[in-house]
Amino acid sequence: MTRTETGRKDRCMPRGRVPKAIVIGAGIGGLTAAVALRRVGVDVEVHERASDLWPAGTGLSLMSNALSALRSLGIDLALERRGRVIETFQFLHATGRPVRSLPLKEIGDRLGSPSVSIHRSDLQQALLEKLGDRSVRLGASAMDFTPTADGVRVCFTDGSEAHGDVLIGADGFRSAVRRQLTGPEEPREPGYVCWMATTPFSHPRFTDGCVRHYWGPGQRFGLIDIGHGQAYWWGTKNMPPATARAWNGGKAEIARAFAGWADEVREAIRVTPEHAIVSVPAQDRPFLERWGEGPVTLLGDAAHPMLTSLGQGAGTAVEDAVVLARSLAAATDLRQGLRTYESMRRARARRMVDLSHRVSHIEQYERPLPRKLRDAYLRWVPAPVLYRQNMSLLTFDSSW
Ligand SMILES: Cc1cc2nc3c(=O)[nH]c(=O)nc-3n(C[C@H](O)[C@H](O)[C@H](O)COP(=O)(O)OP(=O)(O)OC[C@H]3O[C@@H](n4cnc5c(N)ncnc54)[C@H](O)[C@@H]3O)c2cc1C
Repeated sequence: MTRTETGRKDRCMPRGRVPKAIVIGAGIGGLTAAVALRRVGVDVEVHERASDLWPAGTGLSLMSNALSALRSLGIDLALERRGRVIETFQFLHATGRPVRSLPLKEIGDRLGSPSVSIHRSDLQQALLEKLGDRSVRLGASAMDFTPTADGVRVCFTDGSEAHGDVLIGADGFRSAVRRQLTGPEEPREPGYVCWMATTPFSHPRFTDGCVRHYWGPGQRFGLIDIGHGQAYWWGTKNMPPATARAWNGGKAEIARAFAGWADEVREAIRVTPEHAIVSVPAQDRPFLERWGEGPVTLLGDAAHPMLTSLGQGAGTAVEDAVVLARSLAAATDLRQGLRTYESMRRARARRMVDLSHRVSHIEQYERPLPRKLRDAYLRWVPAPVLYRQNMSLLTFDSSW
């Protein structure tokens, strides 16, 4: 038996040697999985297609559940240097008239884990500080895998190979590992584009720790304090899926889309350099029931890509990583440990995917009557109901 960093005896370790996991993808899910697996005594190799680890990415909300999971791994976001605790979360009309606030702060206080907004590269930095970047092989694009008698072999496009006891496909939305498990699949496209950027920003209504979601007809705008004088904003607009996929308009087109919206919305777009704006089509996939086979499993967006409406894609990947490590540590057989992980995560991940899809549909309403009914519901739904709904999403059992 091997003793781990947690001091617990781990039953999954093959006699006489440390088991090895090959993780494909050094995104939020892959890096967190590497930290978590190492914590339970598994040797980890991470293989990442990109040639460097500094994404041009923008901001991200990490809700209380994700913070609980990260903290259980000893990952410190060092909020004094990176990110910002969410103090207020408000829904507003396009013109800035308030609709309702969400009780995220109260829930965070009750759970002892706040929700935070952070730049993606800051989160990645915190994960790498814990992991040590020597564990990540860059420029390694996984092509396919072959289960073997004692584990699994992965082949890369440069002709290299990696061998391990288990393979964790954390290679995101267009996962090569998933493709081999399931065959080709088409994404689900609800028909809107999402523009995003981070920028230095100040405005009287851009208060410390604010998250402000503005709703217009078939359009939304999010304005989020990620700390240290920086705003993360995103905007959406309904359009045919093919147009959203191929969108290559400029900042002027985005500014036109939000003309007449609240002053702070227009100002955030105005001060953002054109090159800082990223555009992605809204896409997810129908929920996949089977995430693995034999020595292979999936994690994060590779397993359950979701639309962004709950701000839980990365959070769910982080939760996966903790449950994966717990399941392997408790298993007598590694492959059985992977199946336990999958069955423990299925219901929660399905709920996140399905709810994100439904909420996104409602949020992007265009016609006046459905919008009026939606806004009235949100305005009048009793506070305890709102609290309960959010509480269950934001709670993660982080005990080891
Ligand atoms: C507009 C937008 C806003 C979002 N906002 C939020 C939010 O506020 N909160 C939140 O929690 N989530 C949010 N998400 C979702 C979140 O970004 C994802 O759920 C999260 O990044 C998933 O992490 P991952 O590690 O599973 O995948 P990814 O972050 O996609 O990482 C996958 C990694 O695998 C690598 N890779 C891919 N293929 C290969 C290969 N063949 N070989 C080797 N490496 C490979 C990629 O280069 C990448 O580094 C948002 C998403 C979008 C699009």
